[in-house]
Amino acid sequence: MKAAVIEEAGGDFVVKEVDKPSPSSNEILIKVEACGICHSDNFVKEGGFPGLEYPRIPGHEVVGIIEEVGENVVQWEKGQRVGVGWHGGHCFECEPCRRGDFISCENARVSGISYDGGYAEYMTAPQEAVANIPDELTSAEAAPLLCAGITVFNALRNSGIRAGDIVAVQGIGGLGHLAIQYAAKMGMRTVAVSHSNEKKELASKLGAHEFINTSEKDGAEELQKLGGAKLILATAPHSDAITSIVDGLGIDGKLLMVAATGEPIEVSPMQLLMGRKSAAGWPSGTAIDSEDTLKFSAMTGTKPMIEEYELDDVSEAFQQMMNNKARFRVVLKM
Ligand SMILES: [Zn+2]
Ligand SMILES: [Zn+2]
Repeated sequence: MKAAVIEEAGGDFVVKEVDKPSPSSNEILIKVEACGICHSDNFVKEGGFPGLEYPRIPGHEVVGIIEEVGENVVQWEKGQRVGVGWHGGHCFECEPCRRGDFISCENARVSGISYDGGYAEYMTAPQEAVANIPDELTSAEAAPLLCAGITVFNALRNSGIRAGDIVAVQGIGGLGHLAIQYAAKMGMRTVAVSHSNEKKELASKLGAHEFINTSEKDGAEELQKLGGAKLILATAPHSDAITSIVDGLGIDGKLLMVAATGEPIEVSPMQLLMGRKSAAGWPSGTAIDSEDTLKFSAMTGTKPMIEEYELDDVSEAFQQMMNNKARFRVVLKM
């Protein structure tokens, strides 16, 4: 089969023929139709993720058709259209797993990092990492929802917000353009926060009720004028920008971070204790959370904006994502 392989940390993509994988007893074999390119795939390209071994095929936004199932797989069958996201499997035995908290599994596997992912014509995945795809979504549309989509959908729905609450979405990019749609469709007064007017019209089309341009106005002050945000969902990995709107939180407001960055944000205890505010993070979710995300997306017509590329053009596609030029998610089609 054809696959895009990273042979060593810092190496380029090599598109070549490799052996088609075969599923072990608890795995399924997927004929890949589409795979999203996520910023976290850069861990594979540049190295640095614990336990990562080479050569490795990246890809954790995978949608395709089941071609074969292992002998112990009872839940899935040949011909179903399924997807695999970031959470690539769990052990069922560690303490978090025994508590049913599979996303926090101490031995959690990551698709396209712990094992080969979806930048290929075929991939295998453990049965517990697989999600059903609704008919309303094409494979290319569904792919980014398995990481970008589930991350913001799951963060929003578990944050404690209620219909009518003010939810600010910081950043209008791969995650933010989905978060605006979900928040609006969940019934929130949705505020898009950006550093230029470039995406103002788009934010409104996506469902945002308000737009704040932080290069013209103080974001925190503007949020306070609206009544204070119950939730600020930080989706763009710019710690300065996140820091600058913390004071936009209302009483019991929560700053919830899904933007994956190692750069510290700055929040003083005083900023949080008056008004019982909090700062927290949220990881993506498990396969059943992916299914919930996909069903909600199908029900509400929430779709990612995507740019499609052939597998042969993976280097160009990856660069488009890394340069932050994509509007908004890049998807490889097999
Ligand atoms: Zn991802
Ligand atoms: Zn576990």
